[in-house]
Amino acid sequence: MNAMRTPHIAVCLKVVPRPEEVKVNLETRTLDRANARQQFNPPDVNALEFALALREKHVGRVSVLSMGPPFFAEYLKLALAVGADTAYLLSDRAFGGADTLPTSYTLARGIAKLGDCDLVVCGEESSDGATAQVPPGIAEWLGMAQVTYGSDLEILPERWRLKARRELKGGHEVITVPLPAVVSVRVGANEPRFIDFARLTGEPLGVTVWSAADLGVDPAMVGLSGSATVVAGVDRAETVERRRELLTGTPEEKARTLVERIAVYLARGTRPDGAAASSPAAHA
Ligand SMILES: Cc1cc2nc3c(=O)[nH]c(=O)nc-3n(C[C@H](O)[C@H](O)[C@H](O)COP(=O)(O)OP(=O)(O)OC[C@H]3O[C@@H](n4cnc5c(N)ncnc54)[C@H](O)[C@@H]3O)c2cc1C
Repeated sequence: MNAMRTPHIAVCLKVVPRPEEVKVNLETRTLDRANARQQFNPPDVNALEFALALREKHVGRVSVLSMGPPFFAEYLKLALAVGADTAYLLSDRAFGGADTLPTSYTLARGIAKLGDCDLVVCGEESSDGATAQVPPGIAEWLGMAQVTYGSDLEILPERWRLKARRELKGGHEVITVPLPAVVSVRVGANEPRFIDFARLTGEPLGVTVWSAADLGVDPAMVGLSGSATVVAGVDRAETVERRRELLTGTPEEKARTLVERIAVYLARGTRPDGAAASSPAAHA
């Protein structure tokens, strides 16, 4: 029974380039992030909102964590201005080039260093890497229960469990897991609050930076050296130019022409792209 216990909630916030501004460097096989403006990964903003709403209900504390280069600190200050209590940036040259394995490991070590974390809230996936592997990875490293694609988060204080709605194909399930737990949340699952400008312009907002040495991590397990995958090649996807034709005439004439064109393909049993049409006889 933990009726009097207040939760310490960690939120993993990733700073990502705006999708429309990202370019792939075909030679280095990496994303060229330098010339793109950055933003919080969209579902991570929903993750922060869930954490702040849970704190409003159960008291406790909200810590935000990010792994990335030093400039991420400015973004973590925005999270503090939105309402987080403390911010931690895991930043070290040794963390560079990480795939999801060392990313989840490094974040897990940061969360472990917080000491008393009851719930870790992440976004469902990033808009740049988009693997959705990091939250389950954190749960595995820390031996915590996990819920993916969650929404409607509740803490059941009397049972010290997390209750969440979990979206599935064609439906949803409502599950509870014991705390401590890791949950990844759906983008748009809540209405994030705005920055509190009084916090932004008031007392200086501090971000604690932890290096590889601070986390006491094995250098072989972080960054490029700790990555299990290698980007063997990057190429542009071929785009197929589709044949187009603009029909002219009155709406009735256009509709008649369209029906006549489609009828030809249905009678042949093929689609305009040459593929077999399904049940042509039924449509002819
Ligand atoms: C083979 C390979 C090589 C790569 N090489 C590089 C590279 O050289 N340089 C590079 O910059 N990237 C590289 N990446 C991308 C890098 O692995 C991912 O950006 C990172 O591991 C996070 O994975 P993801 O974006 O798929 O996160 P997801 O699992 O899709 O993210 C889910 C959630 O996890 C949390 N999260 C994820 N990452 C972070 C973070 N850094 N800080 C805080 N929270 C986080 C967020 O809450 C996020 O919403 C590589 C990826 C692969 C697969």
